Amino acid sequence: MADRDGFIWYDGKLVPWRDATTHVLTHSLHYGLSVFEGVRAYRSEIGTAIFRLEDHTNRLFNSAHIYQIPMPFDRDTINEAQRTVVRENQLESCYLRPLVFYGPEKMGVSPKGAKVHVAIAAWPWGAYLGEEALSQGIRVKVSSFARQHVNVTMPRAKVATTYANSILANTEALQDGYDEALLLDTEGFVAEGSGENLFLVKDGVLCEPEIASALTGITRSTIHALAADFGLRVVTKRLTRDDVYIADEAFFTGTPPKSRRSARSTTARSARAGAAPSPRSCRRRFLTW
Ligand code: PMP
Repeated sequence: MADRDGFIWYDGKLVPWRDATTHVLTHSLHYGLSVFEGVRAYRSEIGTAIFRLEDHTNRLFNSAHIYQIPMPFDRDTINEAQRTVVRENQLESCYLRPLVFYGPEKMGVSPKGAKVHVAIAAWPWGAYLGEEALSQGIRVKVSSFARQHVNVTMPRAKVATTYANSILANTEALQDGYDEALLLDTEGFVAEGSGENLFLVKDGVLCEPEIASALTGITRSTIHALAADFGLRVVTKRLTRDDVYIADEAFFTGTPPKSRRSARSTTARSARAGAAPSPRSCRRRFLTW
């Protein structure tokens, strides 16, 4: 990732990609406190468009607020910086990664005294779980690791430390021959994937788990809007592991992969795929978009 052409927006300036570095004693590298976003830009009929840019920026600021990180830039600057990064790297469609982290000015658990930095990179990145996953589905393992309890981390924040828990679950799933992990909460109710929210379809009803210990996904709220367009009701309730086993269809949502289809048509495709579920089997179709 470090060795490529292009520019990264770093603390207010566009810096050549290879020069956007930080010291090994960076506080966030040692104690894990950084907040970030995953955003996508798509080629559209009216030019490249960033999907729900302001919602992502708002979540980034909420994440910083939750962890008491003083943001050194305002929302308009961060929105404009994301547009600049896409434009200056001449990207038609891409993934964007805004990151807020503490610098190397001090060591010790408290970040007080360390400088807050903001970096925004953008690069082409295809389907998160691979192109095949979009048509073939994936195999998902219910993790032996629980999603962190709300008294352990604060799940409304997209914070790096959450992903240590995600990495444990995802690594276990991959080592056991699956494609992704599904985490339950500490009481055993369904939480989310290692990097996605979950929806189920059962008897024509779209259901999702309560998001107490899951990230409030932005794609998830787009599903709510699209479901309303299709006249579908979304039921949000505590879901158990066996609700997943007996679902007619299950799909993960997360910042969408690069696709030539619009989000709307891709979602419709997933919904259609669910109309003819495979017979009851342990290998259910998990569709991502
Ligand atoms: N949960 C987790 C843990 C995630 O990392 C993501 C991806 N950001 C999501 C859910 C889905 O969120 P979004 O739809 O905003 O990408």
